[in-house]
Amino acid sequence: MSELADFRAETRAWLEDNCPPGARGPGPVSNGSTKIEITDPDTVLWLERMVEKGWTVPNWPVEYGGGGLDNDQYLVLLEEMASINARPALSSFGTSMIGPTLLEFGTDDQKARHLPRIARAELEWCQGYSEPGSGSDLASLSTRAVDNGDHFLINGQKIWTSGAHNADWMFCLVRTDPDVPKHEGISFVLLPMDQPGVEVRPIRMISGESPFNETFFTDAIARKEDLVGELNKGWTVGKRLLQHERSGMESLVSGGAKGDEMSLVDEARRWIGEESGAIADASYRNQVLKYEMDNHVFRMTQRRAVEESEGGTPGAATSIFKVYGTELQQTYYDLLLKMRGVRGFPDTISGGDTTSQGRELEDTKQWLFYRAASIYSGSNEVQRNIIAKRVLGLPD
Ligand SMILES: Cc1cc2nc3c(=O)[nH]c(=O)nc-3n(C[C@H](O)[C@H](O)[C@H](O)COP(=O)(O)OP(=O)(O)OC[C@H]3O[C@@H](n4cnc5c(N)ncnc54)[C@H](O)[C@@H]3O)c2cc1C
Repeated sequence: MSELADFRAETRAWLEDNCPPGARGPGPVSNGSTKIEITDPDTVLWLERMVEKGWTVPNWPVEYGGGGLDNDQYLVLLEEMASINARPALSSFGTSMIGPTLLEFGTDDQKARHLPRIARAELEWCQGYSEPGSGSDLASLSTRAVDNGDHFLINGQKIWTSGAHNADWMFCLVRTDPDVPKHEGISFVLLPMDQPGVEVRPIRMISGESPFNETFFTDAIARKEDLVGELNKGWTVGKRLLQHERSGMESLVSGGAKGDEMSLVDEARRWIGEESGAIADASYRNQVLKYEMDNHVFRMTQRRAVEESEGGTPGAATSIFKVYGTELQQTYYDLLLKMRGVRGFPDTISGGDTTSQGRELEDTKQWLFYRAASIYSGSNEVQRNIIAKRVLGLPD
């Protein structure tokens, strides 16, 4: 047997023995936050075992809590996890955004202090980029950081800060030189959230939930040792982080199995019905199969990108993944909701005249949530601009 075939056999056996039944298929996934308690025993056990193995971040170096897998081994692990429908043990801003960014731009000290804690699910991060008036035009941001000896003093406001209320640390873009062209006066800093100068105010949505926040800084402190990259060169670091975010590699780490979604074919059989083993309605049959094929091709393309970039995140081409991936997610939920019709509404709205239960209600919430997917992480219109300029080389 080749070495890779040996690795596959060992991985399959390890997963079979160690991935508890309750960690397969849809269910909770830890993000590492010290402020959220995961109580499901199988989810907790799965996380412990994956941490010990270094497979919460399979392709990070072992010294930083990773699995040290090479590209081929990493892809084998993803395939084997997908084959048993294993959920990711950890899914966080740490593993998908700031971790890979620190691996590229962090000092040895920053890597040693922050990466192992991310890998061991000991804390969660939030992203301090957007400001009122600086969303798509992010480089116009005005949150000010002033040199104050061994630290920066930060004053200003961020907005739409997802999960800031549960985060332990923030990675943040700040203006350190207001007198140069806008891209050249930005720095990238890390700061703890639990300090007097940081105030988090939840933004309440029409649903009553508050997944994101306004974050105010009044003389907040970021230590100089937590400046990532050079002073005033933060735009390069911040852009690279966005590529990690937009790549959707996180869903690949889940083995390509989307933890929260059932097969659309199974859903169609359930809601539309079957005739001789096929989805009964020809129009839905076509739409569902087109979605399944597009989704399959998308996963293969992502996988090819991982192979070609030797396990790393591609560059500007990640904007293609962001646009296509988010539109696919919207198509999935549009189709699902259309198939269910009124059965997707909560009983309180439909007057109790439906079969809607927890799962269906969750899907309806997801359908609403994914309207935001073509906005967050940079709107899809802006991604199309990036694809035009940076991938296709079209004139500005
Ligand atoms: C659910 C959710 C979570 C978020 N989480 C975070 C977070 O954790 N941290 C964070 O920092 N930010 C976060 N954001 C903010 C997000 O990054 C911004 O909403 C996004 O970048 C768009 O900025 P904006 O809302 O200011 O819209 P604007 O920039 O005001 O854009 C308004 C509209 O104009 C279009 N537009 C703007 N410029 C152009 C252009 N040049 N060409 C074509 N069209 C253009 C946009 O596509 C959009 O449709 C989140 C947003 C959402 C919805």
